[in-house]
This record gives sequence, structure tokens and C-alpha cells, in this order.
Amino acid sequence: MTKERILIIEDEVDIANLMRYNLELHGYQVNMAHTGEEGLNLAKSLHPSLILLDLMLPGLDGEEVCRILRKTPESKETPIIMVTAKSSENDVVQGLDIGADDYLSKPFSPKILIARVGALLRRNRGEEVESNEKVLRIHDILIDPNRFEVEISNKKLDLTYTEFRLLQLLAKRPGWVFSRQQIVDSIRGDNCAVTERSVDVQVVGLRKKLRSHGKLVETVRGVGYRMKEE
Ligand code: CA
Repeated sequence: MTKERILIIEDEVDIANLMRYNLELHGYQVNMAHTGEEGLNLAKSLHPSLILLDLMLPGLDGEEVCRILRKTPESKETPIIMVTAKSSENDVVQGLDIGADDYLSKPFSPKILIARVGALLRRNRGEEVESNEKVLRIHDILIDPNRFEVEISNKKLDLTYTEFRLLQLLAKRPGWVFSRQQIVDSIRGDNCAVTERSVDVQVVGLRKKLRSHGKLVETVRGVGYRMKEE
């Protein structure tokens, strides 16, 4: 299989390099543009499989670039992930309105970047989303595995990848007790460095971020952890 090509349009060199490094690590071919104009030219000549487009660019901004990409025959159908500054909900809505397929808020972890890129490429190839990757809703906590997002009463939580996987695992079977070893086995499948001992640390972090919902993650003494049943 030929490598899929990703085009990064981002003026902040550090962020662009970080994205490139992680994408290349996962077998993608990467090209970078630091201005909107350069990005448009590369999109036309390289036919990338996916474009990561920063919203705040000098000169032609991300919004304009997105509009032009959508009007250009060569890039009309190319999946676009809009990269936005954190907490700018309006930017996100606007980005999706003008034709981006997904968005990523800065700062993001490399794992979330890779997951989003992979999910969008799969979706674009028409591959089915795995059945265990459906959105979970429990105690008004919303867990979206495709977007790696967790919301409580419409407020997004900022979880790490490991915390996310832990919460997702427990929420899939409320009331079921998972031993530390089961948790490690389940999360390790995602190439995550988790040990039995670090599970406790992850749980503490997760509870803290869940705030008043943290007590729903129950400790079962001598055994492990479970999500309280509804
Ligand atoms: Ca920028």
C-alpha cells in the first residue's frame, strides 16, 4: 500500500514539526506549508489524502483557505481537519460550516492527532466504524470514541488518552468490576505504557477531572475499579 500523504498548513513551525514527526512515525508521508497560499499550491500539486489546516494563518487565513480548497476541483473532496485555538467554539462551528470535516483544538496530544487523522481517513474510505466505537452515555457523561471527547452537560473535559480509554472501558460495562490487570491489558492494546501500579494514578487523575462525577468511578477494595450503575 502506498503511503497516505498528509498536508499540514500551519504557520507555527514548532507545532507543524510536532505534527509532522508524529504523522511520519505512523507511516504517513507529510508535506508542510507555512502560509495559506503555499498550502493551496501544494494541495493542488500533491493531491494529499488529508489536510490539517490551521485556522489562524497570516495573510490568507484558514477559513479562506478552506473555502478555496472546497471550490477547487482537485481538493473539493479532500478531508480537512481544522486546527483551532482552544475554547473558540465559534471558530469551530464556523470551520465546520465552511466545509471542514473535523476540527482539533490546540493544544492536542499526538495520540489524539493520530486517532483523528486515522478516523477521518477510514471514514473517507467508507470503512465502517467498529461497533464497539459507538458513543456512550452514562450518568449524563457523554463519551465519543471517534472524536476522543468526553462531555458532561455539554462541557468538554480535557482528558489524556489513557484517562479516556480508562473511562471508556469502565463505562462500557457499568457495575462490572475490572481488575487492574484487566485495565492494563485493555489499554495496553493501544500501545500505551500503563502498569498495574499506574492504574491507580490514572484513576485519581480521571476522578479529579470528572469533578462531582468522579465518585462514580468506584474502588472495589482488593479487586479493582468499576463505574457505578445508573
Ligand atoms: Ca497559526
